[in-house]
Amino acid sequence: MSNLPVIEVENLVVEYGRGSTATRAVDGISFKVMPGECVGFIGANGAGKSTTIKTLLGFIFPRQGQVRVFGSPAGTVESRQRIGYLPEVALYYPFMKARELLELYGGLQGLGRAELKRRIPPLLEEVGLAGRGETLLKNFSKGMQQRLGIAQAIIAEPEALIFDELSSGLDPVGKFDLRQVLLKLKQAGRTIFFSSHELTEVESLCDRVIMIHKGRIVTEATVQELMKPLNEFQVVFQLPDGSPVPDSISRHKPERDGSNWRASIRDTAEYAAAVADLSQCGARIVSTSSNSRSLEDYFISLVRGTGGNA
Ligand code: ATP
Repeated sequence: MSNLPVIEVENLVVEYGRGSTATRAVDGISFKVMPGECVGFIGANGAGKSTTIKTLLGFIFPRQGQVRVFGSPAGTVESRQRIGYLPEVALYYPFMKARELLELYGGLQGLGRAELKRRIPPLLEEVGLAGRGETLLKNFSKGMQQRLGIAQAIIAEPEALIFDELSSGLDPVGKFDLRQVLLKLKQAGRTIFFSSHELTEVESLCDRVIMIHKGRIVTEATVQELMKPLNEFQVVFQLPDGSPVPDSISRHKPERDGSNWRASIRDTAEYAAAVADLSQCGARIVSTSSNSRSLEDYFISLVRGTGGNA
């Protein structure tokens, strides 16, 4: 597998309109997505996610900066051929059947009739639309259209997938099914970049998360790095007379309350080490508890400016 970035965004600035009335939707962002990575692009409404994604496809031109996909400038045939794309709002012909739509998109991507015939039924099954190939799209619900959109994006087995608002319109079962589809694609080594408001999706699927707010990147980290400070463990203990507080605990600045000591520890491994040391020195553990903040709480605190580690 090549080690060149699949997506490379450098100092990207995108504005709508010109002059004093221009809206700066993306304000100088840089990031890379490497082959085989699954990266979630997270932000609130209006953060600049769709605008960034549209520049990756070459639908919008940057005011400043560079966007390269598979080493080619965004929007070139070479870069587009290797990407499967699901737009935020996909408008399909209402009087077309699902099978026909997939034939159309697959044909545009160079697949022949026999190949399409072979690929479409299992593809429909994979996205949870088994047996719906002959249904007119006007009779598809929003969630079914989204599933079809995903089938459309993956029919030519592209190396990279870019999804704008991945789970838009899907109910919880739909989201679960979609996660399975994405996990399979991930296991098959595809590069996946998707925007979402759904932080649970990110926790379960992504290797890395890029959070954008008001056109700027506020955090870029692996899911483990992001989750690390979100888990907090408390341990209350009593030490045998004359025993010092073990180092693995004292670095967490425990507080004394009568004969009890109380420590808060943020890392699972450090917590385990502290408990082991306590039991070794004959301490009595009075109570333990844990507090987990969700990635969602973290994101809200980040965009409201109250800091991510609070
Ligand atoms: P959402 O989650 O709601 O889809 P987003 O993160 O995808 O939001 P964008 O659609 O990229 O955000 O919008 C970023 C900013 O650019 C917003 O302030 C939006 O109002 C503005 N914007 C988006 N499209 C246009 C447009 N065609 N003309 C003018 N301003 C636009």
